[in-house]
Amino acid sequence: IVKSGTKNNYQVFDQTIENQSLERRLLESALRSALKEEQFFLEFQPKINIETNKIIGAESLVRWHHHDLGTIPPGKFISLAEETGLIVPMGEWILRESCRQVKAWQNEGFPDFVVSVNVSVRQLEDPDFIEKVKRILEETSLSPMSLELEVTESIFADVRNTVSILEEIQKLGIQVSVDDFGTGYSSLSYIKNLPINTLKIDQSFVRDLHTNEESNAIIMAIVNIANSVGLNVIAEGVEMEEQANLLVKNGCKLAQGYFYSKPLKKDDFEKILQVQ
Ligand code: C2E
Ligand code: MG
Ligand code: MG
Ligand code: MG
Repeated sequence: IVKSGTKNNYQVFDQTIENQSLERRLLESALRSALKEEQFFLEFQPKINIETNKIIGAESLVRWHHHDLGTIPPGKFISLAEETGLIVPMGEWILRESCRQVKAWQNEGFPDFVVSVNVSVRQLEDPDFIEKVKRILEETSLSPMSLELEVTESIFADVRNTVSILEEIQKLGIQVSVDDFGTGYSSLSYIKNLPINTLKIDQSFVRDLHTNEESNAIIMAIVNIANSVGLNVIAEGVEMEEQANLLVKNGCKLAQGYFYSKPLKKDDFEKILQVQ
């Protein structure tokens, strides 16, 4: 603790830290019971082919509904789940529930539907990860081709054997997408050889795409690189028509964002599927 100025300041600061760690401990113990109390649920955000405006799939995003605290967004608990290792069992539930749901939608008349599931570094470090994925696909009868895993650039720095793990995933027929692309390091060196299928352009570039020439140029460059090395490319965080139009102009064919739809609960997602 840094002592700053008067004794009063010191105490205020001290108490803030204490409150923070209390809050963290409360959140951690609540998080520990959340799985068995079935407090997690998924929302699905459509992925759109922006040339045809058709839904090609969805990203599943976890939500936590706590009886007293209300709905807690992932930004508030994913990192805690990662630090405590709870992300491993939680991630397994997320994967199973995502696959189960998408299989149900495929059976209801959308056979080509693909689900994208976010996967944390910590999950890829689990030596049983591949086995778990295989088992879940078997249990849910989902084709591996209907599953995409979203990983962030940081795995290339953080996880040993990343390449061989991703290769195994691809060998199963599962797609690999690099989430938040452009925000990490060494972006250009790894896209050439690494076992990935898709670059997902980070929202920060899309946000000011229509007002900032540099963001526009960066997006154009990412799309060109992806096209020339045979990777798919998708933009996330599209909120305005102007942004969508510029993406089309830059040759980006896939997008996600509030302009098309917010992440939706199962029932609401089914309503928009029906009017496809
Ligand atoms: P992400 O994977 O990059 O997901 C995109 C986030 O942007 C989501 O926030 C989504 O709701 C939000 N978003 C989508 N369209 C727009 C838009 O047009 N404008 C803006 N401002 N935001 C948009 P969310 O659901 O709060 O998730 C935040 C992050 O938490 C995710 O970022 C991901 O890193 C993590 N996360 C969410 N669900 C899971 C999960 O099931 N497993 C793991 N490991 N991480 C997850
Ligand atoms: Mg994602
Ligand atoms: Mg992202
Ligand atoms: Mg993110």
